[in-house]
Amino acid sequence: MSKSKKGKWVVTSAWPYVNAIPHLGNLIGSVLSADIFARYLRLKGEEVVFVSGSDMHGTPVAVAAKREGMDAEDLAMKNHAIIKNLFEKWRISYDNYTQTHNPVHIEFSQNFYSEVQKNGYIFEKEIKSLYCSHDALFLPDRFVEGICPHCGFENARGDQCDKCQKLLTPLELKEPRCAICGETPEIKKTKHWYMDFPQLQKRLAEIIQNNEIIPQNARQVCLNSINEGLPERAITRDLEWGIPAPFKGAENKSIYVWFEAVLGYISAVKEWSERIVKESSKFDYYWKDQETKTVYFIGKDNIIFHLIVFPGLLMAYNDNKKEDEKFVLPYNVSSTEFLMYENDKFSKSRGVGIWIDEALEIAPLDYWRFNLVYNRPEKSDTSFLWSEFENNMNTLNDVIGNFIHRTLTFINKQFKSKIPEKIDLDETDINFISKINSISNKIGHFLDNFEMRKAIREIVEFAREGNIYLNEKAPWHIIKKNKKAAGHVFHLCAQFVYALAILLSPFIPETSEKILELLNIEQNLNDLGWESIKENALETGQSIKKAQPLFQKLDIEDIKKNLVNIKKQKKEGKKMDYISYDDFKKLDIRVANIEKVEEVANADKLYKLTISVGDELRTLAAGLAKYYKPEELIGKKIAVLINLEPKKLRGVLSEGMLLAAVEGDQVSVLTPDKDVESGAKIE
Ligand SMILES: [Zn+2]
Ligand SMILES: [Zn+2]
Repeated sequence: MSKSKKGKWVVTSAWPYVNAIPHLGNLIGSVLSADIFARYLRLKGEEVVFVSGSDMHGTPVAVAAKREGMDAEDLAMKNHAIIKNLFEKWRISYDNYTQTHNPVHIEFSQNFYSEVQKNGYIFEKEIKSLYCSHDALFLPDRFVEGICPHCGFENARGDQCDKCQKLLTPLELKEPRCAICGETPEIKKTKHWYMDFPQLQKRLAEIIQNNEIIPQNARQVCLNSINEGLPERAITRDLEWGIPAPFKGAENKSIYVWFEAVLGYISAVKEWSERIVKESSKFDYYWKDQETKTVYFIGKDNIIFHLIVFPGLLMAYNDNKKEDEKFVLPYNVSSTEFLMYENDKFSKSRGVGIWIDEALEIAPLDYWRFNLVYNRPEKSDTSFLWSEFENNMNTLNDVIGNFIHRTLTFINKQFKSKIPEKIDLDETDINFISKINSISNKIGHFLDNFEMRKAIREIVEFAREGNIYLNEKAPWHIIKKNKKAAGHVFHLCAQFVYALAILLSPFIPETSEKILELLNIEQNLNDLGWESIKENALETGQSIKKAQPLFQKLDIEDIKKNLVNIKKQKKEGKKMDYISYDDFKKLDIRVANIEKVEEVANADKLYKLTISVGDELRTLAAGLAKYYKPEELIGKKIAVLINLEPKKLRGVLSEGMLLAAVEGDQVSVLTPDKDVESGAKIE
C-alpha cells in the first residue's frame, strides 16, 4: 500500500481580544476545536503549524487603560500573559501563541498595507468625526457612548449597540458622550484611509462560488453579503494604541485593529519560523505555497470577516506578485454556532456562565474538554447543562474508565501484567477485531469534515462495544476452566484499550497519556500515529503497569457550590476596601510583655493574660489555650492593639487585642524580632 502524500496545514483559531478572559463558549467555538484538529493532523503525520494570539490593540483596551490610569501596553501585556497561561493549562497545543503588539507583527502589517496601497486598493477621504476637546482626542469606536438610533438603548457604544447588536458608527449615536470624561464631543474633520473592497467584489464572489469545501451555510452568508454590495472600509483610526499606519500623511493614525489583527494568522507563522524553530524559510514554505491548506476555526459571527475581508486583503496584496510570493487564500473555515449556559446567554455582568479560569478550579481538565466537544455547537446553538456535565462524567467513568480498568487489573492479576496470547477466533472475536481495525477510518472521516461532536460520540459508542464484548465473553467465568481462553479475550481487550488511547488523544490528551503510561508505552503519540490503531498494536508478552483509575466521580452539587464561591471571591477581590492613612493612624499598637497567664473557668479556649505596656498593667482575654502552654507565653514580647474598646469575655475584662497570624488551625503570636522595650509603638 503506497502512502498518500502528506498535507501541509496552517491551523488557526480566532484571536481572543485581550481585555477579557475567554469563557467556555469562546473556547469550544474556536480554540479547543482548532486544537483537536491540529492534534489529529499531527497524529496522521501531516505537517502542521498551529497559531493564534491575543488581539491587543484598539479602543476597548485603550479606554480601559485610560479609566484605570494605566499604560495601554502594560494592561494588554498583563492580560495577554494571563490568557496565554490559561491556554497552556487547557493543553492547547499551539506552535505559537503570540500577540499583535510584537515587532514581527507590527513590521509585517505595515509592509503588507504598503504593498496593498502600491497595488491601488487604498484611497484617502476626509470625513467628519467626533472629537473631545477636554481629552484632546478623536473618539473612534468605543471611545463614544450614546443612545442607539435603532432601539433607543442608552449605553450603546460607538461601534455597536449591545442591546440590538446593530453595528454603529460614532456619528449615528444620539446624545453622544466621551467614554472617558463623559463630556459632549464636537464634530471635527479628519482624514482617513479606506480599503477599496468594491473593486474586489467580483473576484471575491468567484472565489467563494468556486470553493466547494466551504460549508453551504457559510457560503450563502458570504454570497448574500457580496450581492448587497461590499462597502469601502476605513482602515485607519485616530488612535494612539495601535500599529502606526504606513501611509504618507497618516502620521498619528493607526491601522484599525480589525484590519491588522487578522494578519496575525500570517505574521504568527513568520514569528514562529524566525524565533521558535529558527528556520526562516519555513514561513514561505507554509504561507506562500498554494498547496498549503489554511483552516480558520471561528464563531459564526466571524464568517464574513474570514471569507470576504481577509481573502480580499490577501488578493489585494497578491496582485502583481509572482506565484511563489503570493499568500495562499483560505482553504476552509470551521464556524460554530453559539454555546449558551443553561439556556441563557453568557454574561459577565450577570455572572452567567463559566470562564476558562474558573472551570479548571472546580473539575479536572479532561472532563471539560470532553464535555465541551461532546456538546460542540456544530449545526445549531447548544447549551452547557450541568445535568449533561454529570452524564458525561458518568460516561467517562462507567463506559471508558471502567472498561480500561477491568481489562488492565485482570491482566495484572491473572497474567502477571503481561499481555496474554491470542488463540482461535470465533464469530464474536472476528466481529470485535473488525471494529478495532476500522475505527480509525470512521473517526478520521468525521474529523476530516470538522465533525468533532460526531467523532467523540462515535468513540463513546466504540467504547460501549468493548464493554459489550467483555460482558458477552465473561472471561471471569471462562478462567475457571480455561485460562488460555480467558487470556485470549484480554489480549483483544488490551488492543481495544490501545485503540481508545489513540482515538481519545486529540480530545482528552491527558487521559490518553495516562492510558499509554499504564500500557507501558514510552513512544510519544505522534510517533505512534493514527494508523497504529490495529488488532495487533500490542505484542503478546509485553508487560503493562499496575492499573490505576483514570477518572473519579465528583459530586455535581459540590462543583456548583465551588463555582459560586469562586465567583464571589473574584467579585470581592476586585472591590478591595481601602482604609485611609488617617484611619490607620488611629490604631494604637504597642509592644507588651506577658507577665502572667491564667486559665479561665468554663472557657477551655481562653487564657487571662496580665500584660505590661510600659509601666501600665492590663488584662487581656486571649483565645490561645489550644495553641500555647502558659509557660510558652510568660515573658514573651507581643504586639497589642491597646485602644480597642474594653470588653468583658467570660468574666475577664479584655483591655486590648493581641495580634497573631492565623492560618487554618495554626495560630502564631507576633513578636518583635529585636529586643525592644515594652510600651514601644508599632506603626
Ligand atoms: Zn440598539
Ligand atoms: Zn473626553
